[in-house]
Amino acid sequence: MASQGHSSDKSVRTSLDNLLRIFTVPEAPESTLGRLDQSISQNMAGFLQQHIVAEEIDLAEIEQDFTDTEIPESALLVSEQTDFLLDKVVAQSVHTSSPSFIGHMTSALPYFMIPLSKIMIALNQNLVKTETSKAFTPLERQVLGMLHRLVYSNDEAFYQRWLHDAHQHLGAFCSGGTIANITALWAARNRAFGPDGEFRGIAEEGVYAAFKHYGCEGGAVLVSERGHYSLSKAADVLGLGRAGLVAVETDDLNRIRPEALRAKIAELTEQGIHPFGLVGIAGTTETGHIDPLDTLADIAEEHQLHFHVDGAWGGPTLFSEKYRGRLAGIERADSVTIDAHKQLYVPMGVGLVLFKDPAALNSIEHHAQYIIRQGSKDLGSNTLEGSRPGMAMLVHSALKIIGRRGYQLLIDQGIEKAAAFARMIDAHPEFELITEPELNILTYRWCPPVAQTLLEGADSAQAAEQRTELNELLNRSTRYLQKTQREHGRAFVSRTRLTPKRYDGQPIVVFRVVLANPLTTEEVLREILIEQVEIAKDAALMPVRQQIEQLCLR
Ligand SMILES: *Cc1c(COP(=O)(O)O)cnc(C)c1O
Repeated sequence: MASQGHSSDKSVRTSLDNLLRIFTVPEAPESTLGRLDQSISQNMAGFLQQHIVAEEIDLAEIEQDFTDTEIPESALLVSEQTDFLLDKVVAQSVHTSSPSFIGHMTSALPYFMIPLSKIMIALNQNLVKTETSKAFTPLERQVLGMLHRLVYSNDEAFYQRWLHDAHQHLGAFCSGGTIANITALWAARNRAFGPDGEFRGIAEEGVYAAFKHYGCEGGAVLVSERGHYSLSKAADVLGLGRAGLVAVETDDLNRIRPEALRAKIAELTEQGIHPFGLVGIAGTTETGHIDPLDTLADIAEEHQLHFHVDGAWGGPTLFSEKYRGRLAGIERADSVTIDAHKQLYVPMGVGLVLFKDPAALNSIEHHAQYIIRQGSKDLGSNTLEGSRPGMAMLVHSALKIIGRRGYQLLIDQGIEKAAAFARMIDAHPEFELITEPELNILTYRWCPPVAQTLLEGADSAQAAEQRTELNELLNRSTRYLQKTQREHGRAFVSRTRLTPKRYDGQPIVVFRVVLANPLTTEEVLREILIEQVEIAKDAALMPVRQQIEQLCLR
């Protein structure tokens, strides 16, 4: 095993001279590192050309290659480590850009990202302060401005005034949607419980003093029951407690019900809890549905709530002239999260939050003498994270190379492909569409014709009981189909559990499909259904199939 053995004869003699060498730029193109670089590029291209999602090897078996916890005493050759990586890691990783990998939000990458990301790694800039990032700082601010403009469409004068202002921020870059959501609610909390007379604000004095000063028992943020779990993490770290994230009932299309929201606000106020934030979702993680953002903006205004839109997934829909209307009201949000590593097609590890008011982020400002001094243009004073890489460079590149029209095409084809897949499922005798897509996400399940007949039949107490039993059998089947298909390794759809109104809130296991890869064709989708129908004939599933038939013919 390559990673083992401190006394392997292949290991390099540790000396300062040898160590110094790995820090210098290799001069000759024929140097060892130069050749390694080429061979890695070739190997990666080979891997990316295969269309296998993952080889069928048990995780427990793979763990065997990663059991040694001893750090080698002396050095390994770079080439040895490379061989290990290619053999044990690359070969056993998941092919996230395969056209038949349609179960996750981890997107396929445009190939130019791979060479361009080398610039970022090679320069190793740190965005925490200008001393270690120079041009990367204005570049990052420019990207924030570009996306701010996409959401809020302010005039040129606004952007000229604030884009590079040392005291104002159009938003903040971070590692993803989770940190973006936490940052938004952090600013909302600090503004809602800000300095007031003698009270120095929640940021200085903490939640207990803040609630005492403002005469309440606690604070709350409201979101639909389809809210992403990052919001409950936010409520936890912000000292509200997870109970401080209040879930509101949704309608048939997984959208927040405004009447239920109003009732919850009244209920919280009654209990002495101060609701200060409201989150609208532009593209729920599970089903891709969009809350009525305009109505939410009205309610937020009425109750003076910070209105945050979680557009981690759906935000880039704004690029589409055809479909951006579905996000109407987003321009009234106080803050908006967009994940760049989802539908902006940038490598993993970059999200951002935009603020309508360029002064909003000052509520979380933090200074340290040695590093981020007051009045400097250092971005580190207004971000949750400290040291941060120059990922903005890759977002900048994607926005320029793909362009507005390019993104519009990508968004449109995703939405239209999802609609076409929904019709394909509707027309297929063995499947049932569970959620109609609004964006490029849909859910469905395997449901043979006998079962469909029973589910669509007349209502009676007996029928209701039979349906409950049937849904449980179908849940078992869907779980089996999804797991088996994943193990075969040719395609991947994910799985979640929903509580559709159609089945009176009974938990229903569904396949979840995310159509963000432009290389996924209708042919690929058809093949995924064909494979699922085949798996449904497995001997292992026979007993469940028989139970379904017996139940339906009762
Ligand atoms: C993905 C997602 C998040 C979290 O983003 P990460 O980048 O995974 O941290 C938050 N909200 C929604 C709606 C998402 O889809």
